[in-house]
Amino acid sequence: MKLNDPVSKIPLIGPKYRELLSSLGILTINDLLFYFPRNYFDSSIRHRITDLNREEKLAFVATVLKIKSIRIRGRRMTIQTATVEDESAQIDLVWFNQPFLKKSLKAGNQYIFSGKLNPKSYKPQVQSPDYEELKEKQTHVGLITPIYPLTAGLSNKWLRSRVQWLTDKLEYIEDLRETLPENIIDEYKLISHKQALESIHFPENEGILQKAKNRLAFEELLAIQRKILKRRRAIAKYHGPRIKPARELLDKFIKSLPFSLTKDQEGAIQEILTDFEDEHPMNRLLSGDVGSGKTIIAIAASLLVVNSGHQVVIMVPTTVLADQHYKTFSEILQDFNIKVQLVSSNSKGNEIDPGTDKADIIIGTHAVLYQKYEHLDKLGLIIIDEQHRFGVEQRSELRKSFTDKTKKISPHFLSMTATPIPRTLALTLFGDLEVSQLKNKPKERKIVKTHLVPEEKRGDALKWIAEKIGEGLQVFWIAPLIEESEEIEEIKSVKQVYKNLQENLPKQKMEILHGKIKPAQKKQILSDFQDFADKKINILVSTSVIEVGIDIPNANIIVIEGAERFGLAQLHQLRGRVGRSDAQAWCFLFTSTKPTPEQKARLKYFTEVNDGFKLAEYDLHRRGPGEVYGTKQSGIPNLKIANIFDLELVQKTKKVAIELDK
Ligand code: ADP
Ligand code: MG
Repeated sequence: MKLNDPVSKIPLIGPKYRELLSSLGILTINDLLFYFPRNYFDSSIRHRITDLNREEKLAFVATVLKIKSIRIRGRRMTIQTATVEDESAQIDLVWFNQPFLKKSLKAGNQYIFSGKLNPKSYKPQVQSPDYEELKEKQTHVGLITPIYPLTAGLSNKWLRSRVQWLTDKLEYIEDLRETLPENIIDEYKLISHKQALESIHFPENEGILQKAKNRLAFEELLAIQRKILKRRRAIAKYHGPRIKPARELLDKFIKSLPFSLTKDQEGAIQEILTDFEDEHPMNRLLSGDVGSGKTIIAIAASLLVVNSGHQVVIMVPTTVLADQHYKTFSEILQDFNIKVQLVSSNSKGNEIDPGTDKADIIIGTHAVLYQKYEHLDKLGLIIIDEQHRFGVEQRSELRKSFTDKTKKISPHFLSMTATPIPRTLALTLFGDLEVSQLKNKPKERKIVKTHLVPEEKRGDALKWIAEKIGEGLQVFWIAPLIEESEEIEEIKSVKQVYKNLQENLPKQKMEILHGKIKPAQKKQILSDFQDFADKKINILVSTSVIEVGIDIPNANIIVIEGAERFGLAQLHQLRGRVGRSDAQAWCFLFTSTKPTPEQKARLKYFTEVNDGFKLAEYDLHRRGPGEVYGTKQSGIPNLKIANIFDLELVQKTKKVAIELDK
């Protein structure tokens, strides 16, 4: 047997189960080994019947004396009763509608049961206990039992038995080898790879379970650190394009702005200048809350690069944002004789028309990836805005396509994100990047007043909003977010919201905006969007496409439908679309179903907290990074076992990665 063999090599896994397993991402032997339990139920301590109580499930070994199954007259129900005994007492065990028990529990045989006393029964009785025949090695009851995440049609019992079959046969997997050198295992007091895989599924005790988790978390983080190190080394082989540290030009630029820069902004620009002086390409992540003023830093960096005779490419996730940046860059740089160009996927052939002279700054969505190299032969800097919306692959693809292998030159890289990434997380995940942070917003702005509105108050809220519109305010109305795979649904839900609004607020001028439309219609979006910016529209109904980067200071109300579906960091981004002027702004949250207490608590927290980092951290601890940032797009690996905040382990594995690389 080999790790890459299909799971069907395991007995009792036929086509039906293979299909079910594959829906959980389990295709190979290796996948199954690394399909870790979600948690465990510990019934490893064996009690006596007299120890049983009404609060806590306890395990006990007992012999079946007799078992019967009776049908309740007039009802479609059967009751199974087994009388069992151990050396301390006799007791009745009761199940409903499990007639097969008469065959599986045999009088005279010993079983291990787990259950608690039925509080409603006067006579001591255990209702629906778990049971398993007493064996040399238990699978379901009487051990620290693994509980796996499942899918419909798959039971824990079945999966457990298949995993146990496999973990019993680890020595027959030819290519299952130790992955770490002995000295590392000794130094960090780790258990072996094999032992860890066995014990993560079927731990003999709590102690070994902890050790198994440690060992596997170590492996997991080490793999990430090695990848980061590899990327770092790859970049270090190249030189960055020479950028002149034109301090005077920079000062002139800063003076030309309608505002003065914050300390953090000054600091970030200084850090970029220092990076430019290094012989290797810059690889920097600029992180700062929504509205903290990242764009201006991108513009300053671009100015320096263009001044040195190089080009800049700026990649953003949406057409609307590309358009907005195009306008901002053109306006702010108007006195600096710089050619800014917008590329969109609907411009012919996805190519830049170089015209007579080439553009200095090219802005676009991922369409910029497909530009002809000769139009960008002087590329000096790549900027990715809202970088968490792009996969790691897209980023490295960009880098690769503009790296000159013969001259050993690779462009500088500046990634920007408004996603609040705690420093520990940034260190773990983006160890190959330098990080600049904008901690404070440019101006003290009024806090956006946020309310969670119960459904019965919807009418009141609508009335209030209509009044505010009467006073000249504008509204973003966000339709529920739906998984990418369900784009039809997403459009449907925007249309639904739009229809409802037209019925309820017939006097208002409104438009729909959503990301899932054909390229030919993109122009329409932009013009709708412009109409909104020009105050020709009162309400813009949209999916979360407006989430990123959009800057329309007139809009002061945002309504979010289906708020429970969004991560707090994302809600915060959406909320950041309003409150961009000195006026008061509001955010209203509706839920699509009655919120559970947990959802309510989350959303309540959101209404009270305005700090993006705190919000992200709230979700990170409760829901994990995948849910907070969207694992697919963020490049954040879906960690199976390691804790992303375990800075100590991050640092250890970083050290080991360097050691192993020697
Ligand atoms: P983000 O970090 O979300 O990309 P932007 O760059 O869009 O933020 O900036 C938000 C708004 O703040 C813009 O309208 C911008 O012109 C303004 N701004 C940026 N820096 C300053 C500053 N130092 N003082 C005042 N306003 C600023
Ligand atoms: Mg921005």
